Amino acid sequence: MAQVQRMSRLMIKTLRDDPADAETLNHKLLVRAGYVRRTAAGIWTWLPLGKKVLENITRVVREEMDAIGGQEVLLPALLPKESYDASGRYHEYGDLLFKLKDRKGAEYLLGPTHEEIFTQVVKDQITSYKDLPVILYQIQTKYRDEARPRAGVLRGREFQMKDSYSFDTTDEGLIEAYRLHRAAYIRIFERLGLDHRIVSAVSGAMGGSASEEFLAPAPAGEDTFADCPACDYAANTEAVTFKATPVDGSAHGPVEELDTPDTPTIETLAAHLGVPASATLKNLLVKVDGEIVAVGVPGDREVDLGKLGEHLAPAVVELVTAEDFEGRADLVRGYVGPQGLEKVRYIADPRIAAGTAWITGANKPGTHAKDVVAGRDFEVDDYLDVVVVEAGDPCPKCGTGLKLDRAIEIGHIFQLGRKFADAFQLDVLGQNGKPVRVTMGSYGIGVSRAVAALAEQTADEQGLCWPREIAPADVHVVAAGKALQTELALDVAEKLAAAGVRVMVDDRAGVSPGVKFTDAELIGIPKILVAGRRSAEGVLELKDRRTGEREELTVDEAIARLT
Ligand code: ATP
Ligand code: MG
Ligand code: MG
Ligand code: MG
Repeated sequence: MAQVQRMSRLMIKTLRDDPADAETLNHKLLVRAGYVRRTAAGIWTWLPLGKKVLENITRVVREEMDAIGGQEVLLPALLPKESYDASGRYHEYGDLLFKLKDRKGAEYLLGPTHEEIFTQVVKDQITSYKDLPVILYQIQTKYRDEARPRAGVLRGREFQMKDSYSFDTTDEGLIEAYRLHRAAYIRIFERLGLDHRIVSAVSGAMGGSASEEFLAPAPAGEDTFADCPACDYAANTEAVTFKATPVDGSAHGPVEELDTPDTPTIETLAAHLGVPASATLKNLLVKVDGEIVAVGVPGDREVDLGKLGEHLAPAVVELVTAEDFEGRADLVRGYVGPQGLEKVRYIADPRIAAGTAWITGANKPGTHAKDVVAGRDFEVDDYLDVVVVEAGDPCPKCGTGLKLDRAIEIGHIFQLGRKFADAFQLDVLGQNGKPVRVTMGSYGIGVSRAVAALAEQTADEQGLCWPREIAPADVHVVAAGKALQTELALDVAEKLAAAGVRVMVDDRAGVSPGVKFTDAELIGIPKILVAGRRSAEGVLELKDRRTGEREELTVDEAIARLT
């Protein structure tokens, strides 16, 4: 039998006003409704109602992970630096890591994600191909020293993540584990009642190849995705892919001569590329006026930003990716002319071998292409990474103008391949007795972020409005009056609980019905059952939190309706 949650005994303090620092809906409402409390920037306390919501999400995630054969484990959050040195990510993550030392001076970090440690666990625990495939997962606190922790629990510096990792010996096995996760994620987000889109993504710091994000459309989101209204194409704008061939005669785009004697500085270039001025661009072929002026291949030569800068003024700059540019597309943000990035925004895709070029730029010293227009200057045939996309750009699949929307990244799935297995020499004995290198996938869900995403998508003017499975209770019974109403409210609450319904009852003495109604709307439990005026006749009012529909019911009718 479910317990009745009496509000008179619940630690909750609702607020009438938005917290001063809150900009987003979820932040305002979760604080005002008493779900969370800010402890420090990006660090949150989950109060009783918030913890319930978090637990409900965790339960759904756990059930669906178990259903695909995931085994739950719990790794530490405090991790030795060596593991992240071995993968190179101690350096790659940089300032995002919380770093600390123990009393003996040994170095540690607080885990931002756990590929390294899982790889080491499997290396230690699994020796034969017979013990694979394996999916391991955990639901755990992660730490990232985000530059701009904002929007409440949407972007915390401490947050809850479900992360899972698949291990197999074959590429087919990896594809299957990825497919299983993708299906599980769809079920999870459907059960959570989160409107979501699956979009192609760049793999970022993870490396690896196939990668998709689960995005929850919401204005508060920090991601922008391109969505085709005519076909199923959708991609994060960091990763929209086009393959384009220049249209004859306008390979360089229509060029407008501009009187701009200024040559771009390394700083402007670096700023536009989104890399530090001291950085080196790897894996690039840079052509100026058809001539290769710089080449960069990992472990070989590198393109020095200084050299690149020298060549910018003369005019046509062609950025061509080399074959093994894999995974570094994020370093290239487009051509930087003397006027800045302008509209030039197409780069070559890392998967296209060197030689497939996209040409941007100007054809005269001191000038630059002002406008590069899809269709007129190039044909879209297949794909090319586009870092900046504008609404109306042609869909790479069907040519229809793309729509742009804001969204919250709630999940992310990657085929990592052998990057981490290589770093830790993760091999198992194969069928023929020889060692085989393991291939991995990694899959994350922002569990605490999902609370914020749900709040963003479902709240209205009055407050939060949870889907039933996620709400802290199924029914909010309000005693709107004196002793009689309280008695009826408690009685019906007990009956509902006995039937397995999760009930919260507002039995607070000395709180006016008006305040109780406002609080019930703010807290957002899907059904509100009011013991009010007609309590003496045993008649209650049932209100649907979302639609606002009301109806009068007897106690028995109400119980029948709610169970
Ligand atoms: P973002 O682009 O929002 O910074 P990410 O791509 O860095 O997220 P991943 O490394 O893919 O995040 O982590 C898996 C999931 O963890 C994300 O899809 C997101 O739902 C969640 N997540 C990541 N960072 C945070 C954070 N700072 N606060 C809350 N949830 C987060
Ligand atoms: Mg991030
Ligand atoms: Mg992301
Ligand atoms: Mg991600």
